[in-house]
Amino acid sequence: MSARRIINEVTMYREEFMREALNEARLCASLDEVPVGAVIVKDGKIVSRAGNRKESKNNALCHAELIAIDAASAALGHWWLENCEMYVTLEPCPMCAGAMINARIKSLYFGAYDKKGGGCGSKIDVMKTDLFNHNINVSGGHLEEECGKILTEFFENKRSQKKLEKSKTTTENDV
Ligand SMILES: [Zn+2]
Repeated sequence: MSARRIINEVTMYREEFMREALNEARLCASLDEVPVGAVIVKDGKIVSRAGNRKESKNNALCHAELIAIDAASAALGHWWLENCEMYVTLEPCPMCAGAMINARIKSLYFGAYDKKGGGCGSKIDVMKTDLFNHNINVSGGHLEEECGKILTEFFENKRSQKKLEKSKTTTENDV
């Protein structure tokens, strides 16, 4: 476990929850969605789980974290997700990081770092202490290899599928 930053150690990372987020990510891959999964936990229990559904919903807002926040708010009957922890397989983007602050998530544990679009330190740091009126305990790099691998494999498959389709078209045109 490489804790990037712990502002206020009040909750403990639990690998079982990241494994549940990974299951959600695997489900995404089977639906041809970029595999990112999230679960929200309160008092040691999962209150919501979600995967990225941007393609199937044709909606840029349908990131795993936002769907999980929506479902947790419905389940708990309040927008204020007091004492809730977010487990997500990829470093959240700025939109999701902002939503977590608005939902008053207590702690965020993420898996792989997102150098291209991460909003929790990799590209920009929305979670910077005292930037907003709510600070989240952020810690990244949990099951980093597994969380990263599922994404790498997904994009490798996509590329080889495209190549295959291209070669098929070429062959058909040749005939
Ligand atoms: Zn996002």
